[in-house]
Amino acid sequence: MNRFELLNKIQNILKDNLVICNIGLPSQELYKINDQPNFFYMLGSMGLSSSIGLGLSLSQTKQVISIDGDGSVLMNMNTLATIGNRAPSNYTLLIIDNGSYGSTGDQRTFTDENTSLKDIALGAGCKKVIECSGEETLNELSKAIEDKNNSYVIISKINSGNVKIDPIPLNPITIRDRFRKFIGIVKYL
Ligand SMILES: [Mg+2]
Repeated sequence: MNRFELLNKIQNILKDNLVICNIGLPSQELYKINDQPNFFYMLGSMGLSSSIGLGLSLSQTKQVISIDGDGSVLMNMNTLATIGNRAPSNYTLLIIDNGSYGSTGDQRTFTDENTSLKDIALGAGCKKVIECSGEETLNELSKAIEDKNNSYVIISKINSGNVKIDPIPLNPITIRDRFRKFIGIVKYL
């Protein structure tokens, strides 16, 4: 299973929640599969999906899912410590771990060698850390969303590989404004 197939498989869970999606191909694939106004596509800020989602979950009662990648988490591991100590129960970090920097040409990351994001998350203080195969992700993500008492980190191990896909045709202002409208923010600076 590759990332596009995984996103297809979990789209029905995602569409009912606030989703922050990682920069590059993950966002482009999610947009193509089933674009929703409650999906915030990152067009910059690599590594910060977990941070943006965490902040959002602290200010909202709705369930928040950050979709992140192994390469992005590796460049922003410090947020795992904040998640481990401060994440509210409506927050789930879904790390799609394909062992590669998919958006830049599938160069291998260290999770394809000796590095375990599960061990790092546990060491950072995250209590509910699930490592699963791509096929198991739908079930694990469903359980995490249904559990109203705990935050989760789910590491979904999948194959690397990309599908040919177009850029998202929305500009950043549109993505921002429709997301804010969805969560009920009508006035802002
Ligand atoms: Mg990756």
